[in-house]
Amino acid sequence: MKKWVYFFGAGKAEGDGEWRDLLGGKGAGLAEMTKIGLPVPAGFTISTETCDHFYKNGKKYPADLKKQVLANVARLEKVTKKKLGDPNNPLLVSVRSGSARSMPGMMETILNLGLNDKSVQGLARVTNNERFAYDAYRRFVQMYCTVVMGMSKEDLEHRLRAMKQRLGVKEDTAVSAEGWKELVAEYKAYFQEKNGSPFPEDPMEQLWGAVGAVFGSWMAEKAVTYRRVEKITGLLGTAVNVMQMVFGNTGDNSGTGVCFTRDPSSGEKIFYGDYLSNAQGEDVVAGIRTPVHLSELSKLMPKVYGQLEKARVKLEKHYRDMQDMEFTVEEGVLYMLQTRTGKRTPAATFEIAMDMANEKLITKEEAVLRIKPEDIERLLYPVIDAKVDKKTLTSKILAYGIDAVPGAAVGRVRFSAPEAEEAAKRGEKVILVRRETSPEDVGGMAVAQGILTATGGKTSHAAVVARGWGKCCIVGAETLNIDYKTQTMKDGKSGKVVKEGDWLTLDGSEGIVYVGEEPLVTPEFPKAYQTIMKWADEIRRMRVRTNADTPQDARKAIELGAEGIGLCRTEHMFFTDFEYPEKSHERQRAIQEMIVAETKEARVKALDKLLPFQRRDFVGIFQAMDGFPVTIRLIDPPLHEFVPHEREKQAELAKELGIPVETVARRVEQLHEANPMLGHRGCRLSITYPEILEMQVRAIIEAAIECHKGRVKVLPEIMIPLTLDKKELGILDQATRAVADKLIKEAGIKLPYMVGTMIELPRAALLANEIAEVAEFFSLGTNDLTQTTMGLSRDDAGRFLPDYVDEKKAGVFAGDPFQTLDTKGVGLLMRWGVQKGRETRPKLKVGICGEHGGDAESVKFCHEIGMDYVSASPFRVPISRLAAAQVVVEEKIKAKKKRK
Ligand code: ADP
Ligand code: MG
Ligand code: MG
Repeated sequence: MKKWVYFFGAGKAEGDGEWRDLLGGKGAGLAEMTKIGLPVPAGFTISTETCDHFYKNGKKYPADLKKQVLANVARLEKVTKKKLGDPNNPLLVSVRSGSARSMPGMMETILNLGLNDKSVQGLARVTNNERFAYDAYRRFVQMYCTVVMGMSKEDLEHRLRAMKQRLGVKEDTAVSAEGWKELVAEYKAYFQEKNGSPFPEDPMEQLWGAVGAVFGSWMAEKAVTYRRVEKITGLLGTAVNVMQMVFGNTGDNSGTGVCFTRDPSSGEKIFYGDYLSNAQGEDVVAGIRTPVHLSELSKLMPKVYGQLEKARVKLEKHYRDMQDMEFTVEEGVLYMLQTRTGKRTPAATFEIAMDMANEKLITKEEAVLRIKPEDIERLLYPVIDAKVDKKTLTSKILAYGIDAVPGAAVGRVRFSAPEAEEAAKRGEKVILVRRETSPEDVGGMAVAQGILTATGGKTSHAAVVARGWGKCCIVGAETLNIDYKTQTMKDGKSGKVVKEGDWLTLDGSEGIVYVGEEPLVTPEFPKAYQTIMKWADEIRRMRVRTNADTPQDARKAIELGAEGIGLCRTEHMFFTDFEYPEKSHERQRAIQEMIVAETKEARVKALDKLLPFQRRDFVGIFQAMDGFPVTIRLIDPPLHEFVPHEREKQAELAKELGIPVETVARRVEQLHEANPMLGHRGCRLSITYPEILEMQVRAIIEAAIECHKGRVKVLPEIMIPLTLDKKELGILDQATRAVADKLIKEAGIKLPYMVGTMIELPRAALLANEIAEVAEFFSLGTNDLTQTTMGLSRDDAGRFLPDYVDEKKAGVFAGDPFQTLDTKGVGLLMRWGVQKGRETRPKLKVGICGEHGGDAESVKFCHEIGMDYVSASPFRVPISRLAAAQVVVEEKIKAKKKRK
């Protein structure tokens, strides 16, 4: 008989913390906490396999499930010495969802199940607390109505508010037993009215209803959307956890809380969390009342706090990572209800990984593995420019809140998620302002620059979700009175009023809200980042270079850890003078003059004008790269890209060159190609016009000689683009060497340089063994190689590629092949090219210079096929360094597993 249900309780568990796929994260955590001796209420987990079976069999449960659940209920009753539905001393349970990946707020939980009109009296008697019993009852009935029956939450909450108004009370905690009794009766009448049947009194019927609702929630639209947005695939489904209830709502000696073993914002090693006394379940995160910090708990209940602190240490040691825990205190006794790896800001990710490695809790290699590429991207949160006058800034303070996620954000106020999405679609920067957020708001939160809520603590929905994204967020700005009807908010303290569409600036690091639009700047990398990147650099085998066309980019890339240039595109220099932009016109004219020239002499004359510009640019780049290799690619794009196409501009050019406009127009016409991507471009240009190559090589080598004399170490690598044949490359190689060797000889110095080629056509990859006879190095140009292998134009594929990537549509590719390498197809050619090239020339240097060099997954592939380096745009360099290190560690782990 297949096992569908796993029991835990009284220090033992049938499941295991490693079985997240089977038990879900929550179930696995509960099993593990039980096993390591933490106080966890007893219960059982219905496996994710059951959910899988359910959906694969027309929403039917496995035949044995009923029997197994009944047996486990009996076991639970034995362990707890209570019985479900017992009119004297009833067992109550919670029914909780939980899949292998955390999906905060996406699925359902039902608390206090097992209550009915009889058992509630028993509960009141044994606890000697009628108010509590009926509070629990009304919560259960409400949750059952909404979660299991899908009734409107608002309709029920409306009745709750009306009742409170009738009784003249504000806080839920002030409602009497009578009040709750009334409400339960109202809820039940409403239930009957809506469903035509009475509220189920039988606890087993309630239990199956709840189990069905949890499984149902797995396929609810918001859950499906969430998985799509977060790219969560390959899960069996959700598990269902049924466990004994413990009560945080019996009075002031009870409460519920959420805590983190370290500060999830900064990563600092301090115990961090929120506690709300006399409360149940999600009260603490729902923002109904604002909770107190854990340090308060240490004063209120020192003993409980001590136990919690012990659990903190134990769990972190056990899991070797920062944990996010839920706990409840019932009459001074602590219970642990959940543990999971805590979400954290990017800065905290670095800090925690570094600290844990220094504490020897994890290895340096593990620390490196814990960083995700997004963590680096998000590390440089913007902040309000320090140049802004402090006094003026202070005068703009609207309100203070809790600094939930650091960084600053600027945008226009939108008070609802759909409006935020609308505005973002129009290209507007949005600050989403809500009293509190719920899973329905996720779409609006995703598009917002920042999020502001009037209620809630650092563990509220808004804070948790925003933290996961590294998005600026302020919660609990309680002085803000938000009026959704009039689309305004007024601050009770400052008196300032903000309307929808007004600009707002959030400082998430300080928790301060400013009216107006403040300038933001990007900060420096934190210390932990530098440390971890240093570890990564020690681990990786591949070098990381950058794609840079200007000295500025080159310097930036060096700062970010680049070890050379893998691609310097010379044609960008034809357009713009990066040092003196106002002088760009001169070089543009020179290249245009070259292109429209009708004779070789005229071309050479024009090229001579271009030479000093190119030489100066190369000097700048060599200087920035002092000691690092620089790969310079000769002219690549088709010439028509450099000439004007409008009649007016052509006339202007003709006038300046003193030639008839017809000549210009004719030449432009001649250059027109039906398919320029596959046209007269790349090294084909240098075959037709060797003088272009000669000028470029001269500029490179003269710059190198100049630098060499100035004691700058230069390692030029001259790269021929779009090669398709060995003979073709041989001609250009000879032409290159003829110019270079002559110049070096004349200078009377020793200057090593290399000549190599890009491999960016399938033919070149296939014949790599021949090409390597000439080329001293290969650089895999995966942008063109992807275009030409797949027969897709990168510039036009945007029209249909989204459908090809969308799982819901064609779903042909897992991702955009221009972003992440198509390792299966294009990768096959790359692998072949590297292997064949090295068969001819064992020490052949191989790198990559497509966009893929800055994509973590692609970088890992480059390592696997034995490349020497990857080259990425300057801001992607850290990501490539990290990925190149991670793949080394991952390989080690794989090899270890294999040996076992
Ligand atoms: P989520 O995954 O949305 O956090 P949970 O299943 O963790 O949902 O439950 C929601 C709330 O109910 C949490 O605050 C949790 O601690 C509380 N809760 C769940 N089970 C119990 C229980 N047996 N006793 C007391 N509180 C519980
Ligand atoms: Mg939930
Ligand atoms: Mg939870």
